[in-house]
Amino acid sequence: METQTRRFKQNAREAMADGQLAQALTRLGEGFPLRRAEAIDRLPEFDQLRDAAKAIKDHTLAHLDLYLEQYESKVKEAGGHVHWCRTGQDAREKILEICRSVNAKTVTKSKSMIGEEIAINDFLEENGVAPIETDLGEYIIQLRKEPPSHIIAPAVHLNKGQVEDTFRKAHTNLDPARNLDDPKSLLEEARVELRDKFLNADVGLTGANFLIAETGTNVLVTNEGNADLTYSLPRVHIVIASLEKVIPTLEDTATVLRVLARSGTGQDITVYTTFCTGPKRPDDLDGPDEYHVILLDNGRTELVGTEFQEMLRCIRCGSCLNHCPVYHAIGGHAYGWVYSGPMGAVLIPGLIGIHEAGDLPNASTLCGKCETVCPMRIPLPKMLRAWRERQYQRKGNSAAARWALGLWAALAKRPKLYRAVTGPLMTALAILGRKRGRFKWLPLAGGWTGPRDLPAPQGDSFIAQYHKGPVGAVVRSKGQ
Ligand code: SF4
Repeated sequence: METQTRRFKQNAREAMADGQLAQALTRLGEGFPLRRAEAIDRLPEFDQLRDAAKAIKDHTLAHLDLYLEQYESKVKEAGGHVHWCRTGQDAREKILEICRSVNAKTVTKSKSMIGEEIAINDFLEENGVAPIETDLGEYIIQLRKEPPSHIIAPAVHLNKGQVEDTFRKAHTNLDPARNLDDPKSLLEEARVELRDKFLNADVGLTGANFLIAETGTNVLVTNEGNADLTYSLPRVHIVIASLEKVIPTLEDTATVLRVLARSGTGQDITVYTTFCTGPKRPDDLDGPDEYHVILLDNGRTELVGTEFQEMLRCIRCGSCLNHCPVYHAIGGHAYGWVYSGPMGAVLIPGLIGIHEAGDLPNASTLCGKCETVCPMRIPLPKMLRAWRERQYQRKGNSAAARWALGLWAALAKRPKLYRAVTGPLMTALAILGRKRGRFKWLPLAGGWTGPRDLPAPQGDSFIAQYHKGPVGAVVRSKGQ
């Protein structure tokens, strides 16, 4: 997928003007967060599991070289091949080389953000190999020639009508009278189309949720079983995974799996959790004859040992997107690359550079919800601030933004001056906005008031409430 991160502001403006997108994102905001909360209520030890999962990943990242080497030797022991690729181009070429070695015409794919990251579909197509997405959401957006807009729900930006239109255009054999106006009929339509493609594919290409060093196993988590068919039906299987996907043991993997689905979709566990180890053995009924793993760096090792290392704990659950007010307002496409939401705003500058993605870390209210819901306790707001600092240091912001930040810093460092300036301003806004309770327009605040109203200040300021203390508490003296 081509990066469009430099167009972020323009993309965001367009997204906010899209009423259909706003409706789709409202549905997302009402669904996954609620189900996550219910799933967590059913598991009293959820927070202890998060601590354990974080500790496992921290330990792994501290010994990444050892676990990757162990993983490689176990894959080889099982009869597979491991290919180390430093860049996306290396990975693309290796995948094409394997496809050509078996004269492959079609490749079935199961959802892989890494595949998107290296734009493997375009590359295969340009070289005469047809990639076929098999996850329902991925299949729909492939037909529409769109990138995914969410890391676990790639077509979340679409409604049923748009999916029906897509199928009617792409599936030329489809009976025009056939009813396709409910999710089940859409699913059946996709299933019929994909069945032959599964059976006839020459190569299967999947991502990896985890790579287990102890056994050389690739763990695939899906709700549709498409990854299992992608792995077991074609003669050749290719796994593409980034280096930080490695986990030491089966038991560690079980711990991290317990927080993954609960955080992302609010399920206790996903419908299919598949452990694939190497090619078919003599007594196996199915499975690939050849098994290849592409281990991709693509900038990850540059993050190890830096203030952004903790981002490598991410297990791509999507919870931070599901709870992010900015993601809810603009959706995933606006971010301009394969990752989005808070995790994307931290990871993308790490992978392609802050000079390419400088606006993304600014796309956050720093409300902290992303960190609160992250199963791996990744300090996303802290890292967003770190990227903002780097952008400021390299003078990447506009002159107006730098001037505003300088003014804000001057005020914030002088509490008396801050109160002297903001107090009358807030009082004036409270008086002016008293009638409607909100402003449709304010000078210098067009970025906010363009797509939505600004609530008028109500009641005391935070500082005033803080000094009053909770009702019934002793009022703080000035010296405290
Ligand atoms: S940053 Fe945390 S919440 Fe967001 S996708 Fe990664 S693991 Fe999930």
